[in-house]
Amino acid sequence: MMSAVTPEDACKAIHDALVAKPLRTSPAQVPFKDGLYFFFEESEVSEHGPNGRIVRVGNHPRSQGGLVNRLRMHYSGNKNSSVFRKFLGGALLRKANPNDPCLLPAAGKGHWEKQDAKTCSCCGPTEARVSDLLRQRFAFRCVWIPDKNERNELEALLVATLATCALCQPSSSWLGQHAYSEKVRASGLWNSQYVGDPTINQLTLGRFLKLAAASP
Ligand SMILES: [Zn+2]
Ligand SMILES: [Zn+2]
Repeated sequence: MMSAVTPEDACKAIHDALVAKPLRTSPAQVPFKDGLYFFFEESEVSEHGPNGRIVRVGNHPRSQGGLVNRLRMHYSGNKNSSVFRKFLGGALLRKANPNDPCLLPAAGKGHWEKQDAKTCSCCGPTEARVSDLLRQRFAFRCVWIPDKNERNELEALLVATLATCALCQPSSSWLGQHAYSEKVRASGLWNSQYVGDPTINQLTLGRFLKLAAASP
């Protein structure tokens, strides 16, 4: 029997568990190789995250031992190595000019937002802006989860749960309001995969809270 927990109660418990963990600003600070990361963003607060709401959950789903490298791809990689960077850069470009040629012919279809399409001389400098943005306005916390299957399962459930919480909403000035993905705009997370999927149950939430508490 799986006992029920509302997404709101789970969202509060997830935020409370993470607040106790060190807030990091560089991949080099992470003392373990496998886990989930949770990004926080300047000025983004909510009912369950009064000092910072979670704005992205991420994983390294295929590569065991790849947590630090995955974070480096976000901080120092390029838009084709990180969907997070693609979202951030696309939102920066769209906020400045909704008709930016690098975003045309349609949201998600322009060469900046299309996977593996090359940047041009106009949007190339956006890579440096995304790197600066991450360093200036974002920080993250990590939870050590060595088992790959457990990590992948928790990633999906945590994204879905945080996205479903009715009490935590993005601010009206959140950069993600300019993201091409409707799921990003609606969820308030820089995530699209797993948004709208089933939320966490009491048993699995308890397991996550245990992992978070044990995390260095
Ligand atoms: Zn371009
Ligand atoms: Zn919440």
